[in-house]
Amino acid sequence: MYAVTGKLLSVELKSQSCKVEAVPAKLYRQYLGGYGLGAALLLERVNPACDPLGPENILGFAAGYLTGTGAYIASRFMAFGKSPSTGGWGDANCGGHFGPKLKKAGLDVILFSGQAASPVYLLVKPGAAGAVVAEILGAEDLWGGDCYVTEDLLKERHGRDCEVACIGPAGENLAAVAGISTDKGRFAARSALGAVMGSKKLKAVVVKGNIPIQIADPEGMKALRKQHLPTFKEEFGSDLSEFGTPMFYEEALNSGDAPWKNWSSSVEEMKDFKTTAEKVKEYQLKRYACSGCPVGCGGHVEVKQGPFKTDGPVHKVEYETMSLFGSNLLNDNLEAMIRINDLCNRYGMDTIGTGGLVAYAVECYERGLIGNDQTDGMELRWGQARTIVALVEKIGKAEGVGAILAKGFDEAVRVFGEATAPYVMAVRGEALPAHDPRWNVGLALTYFFDPTPARHTQGSTTFPLAGYDMPEIDADEATGRAEHHSANADWAHVLNSAGLCLFGYAILSYKTLPDFLKAADGTEWTLQELAEVGRRLTLARQVFNVRAGWTLDRYSFPDRVLGNPPLESGETKGMKVDLKTMVKEYLEFEGLDPKTGLPSREVLETLDLARYLS
Ligand code: SF4
Repeated sequence: MYAVTGKLLSVELKSQSCKVEAVPAKLYRQYLGGYGLGAALLLERVNPACDPLGPENILGFAAGYLTGTGAYIASRFMAFGKSPSTGGWGDANCGGHFGPKLKKAGLDVILFSGQAASPVYLLVKPGAAGAVVAEILGAEDLWGGDCYVTEDLLKERHGRDCEVACIGPAGENLAAVAGISTDKGRFAARSALGAVMGSKKLKAVVVKGNIPIQIADPEGMKALRKQHLPTFKEEFGSDLSEFGTPMFYEEALNSGDAPWKNWSSSVEEMKDFKTTAEKVKEYQLKRYACSGCPVGCGGHVEVKQGPFKTDGPVHKVEYETMSLFGSNLLNDNLEAMIRINDLCNRYGMDTIGTGGLVAYAVECYERGLIGNDQTDGMELRWGQARTIVALVEKIGKAEGVGAILAKGFDEAVRVFGEATAPYVMAVRGEALPAHDPRWNVGLALTYFFDPTPARHTQGSTTFPLAGYDMPEIDADEATGRAEHHSANADWAHVLNSAGLCLFGYAILSYKTLPDFLKAADGTEWTLQELAEVGRRLTLARQVFNVRAGWTLDRYSFPDRVLGNPPLESGETKGMKVDLKTMVKEYLEFEGLDPKTGLPSREVLETLDLARYLS
């Protein structure tokens, strides 16, 4: 096969058995790879009503369809499974180097079912004549280790040329913010899939091998790369290379895009806020790129001395981390942000989820809803960098108040009281990312509706794809978004499942995708066929949610972020978000049932999804 290996490894952890299976070719055509393919596989193999932390849940890792083929910015793999943070469909997307290596080890997908009796890790390597060798090995010596130590030890043991996906203590403790680490800081962070890994006592997945990924037209792929390289060198691409995602921060602070004080305030609160992309660059030692990316928006930084000193170079802070541990906590200490990012990476935690929990705790303390007796004596105040760092450590270790927060928002509200619920800035248990719907209302529809809630990377009218011709819509206008929301969300799933980086596709038109696909697999793809794939990916995950019990009538959204009450200062002062209208128009445009969010059975049959309804 071209572009993909056609192989899936199924690992049953209780019996410690491994089986290589063929992935039906039709599934690639319908779902591409990544979480799209994952949705189809799990709908066939898992009861969506299962306990996400029980043995019935399946945790998957899948490379994107184009990952490792030489197509631009095609490095991603996705983890997927039922999410312990939301109780619905979960997926998490990750760049770096693990995805291409998974394919070079001879696999597109690994599925883990069951639970091991004691800690294990999986080693995958190529055997003779293209066979895949999979071994389940003991991980008692690794259990308890942080993500850096674990990756280092496994690379020492199996060679520097292997790639490692692992969990840290947060995953072992089943934290509701546990992610899966690769490259000591590239994370499949969201949906708490690190906790699923922990529940299975699976410490790590090690992939090794250099089987070439066959593509249909290597010369054609080379020509496409040459043709499109200049696009990445244009202004936005160059700035992204130089500064990475921190480049968005300064403007976002002023425009009302980035949250302030647990989403309750604006730049007026701290007019002298100093943290900028330029400042981040002062700490940068070198740039970092995911496999095959001409942009290279990542970097390694170091804090050499002081209370927030890092132990050598660590991944730099990204926009989301700066926002959620900076302005959202009124913390202007960049060194503390770098250290917090480092701690989250070591413990294996989603910085968005962890930042959301910390802001909730600080606001509850400031309002007198929790006291020193509930915070291990810590005074949780806005802007107190040292205390914030200490609280992050406690969440990572699941210690004291950190143990309560690590269990997620629902558990925290249960322990700290219903009066704290208004300060939870999350949708269905997943903390909001740092882009404010009061700045551009289109985000609210994505955060609310996508089967993985509170995600800024699942396509929206706020961040339309490059090449998508969208009419001008006022940032505060709720009506007229449905068609464009639908197209952008569906296409985002296509690009994600193809293994492509959405930053890349904020630069390069999504209309280039059929060309890259043809060079990779030798077949014709049309934009229309791919749009249909996108629809299928949106709805397959919604089918999973409905079967998990997550119907639309149970959805909610934090009032504060919809402008209830409205902000009293800043660019978005007084803004209200009419989510109701956006949802209504989207449901009508797509012909979706207001209770389930699903279309008619006939439509599901057309998309070959009706068979997954039960
Ligand atoms: S743009 Fe950044 S995140 Fe995307 S593939 Fe390149 S280095 Fe990775």
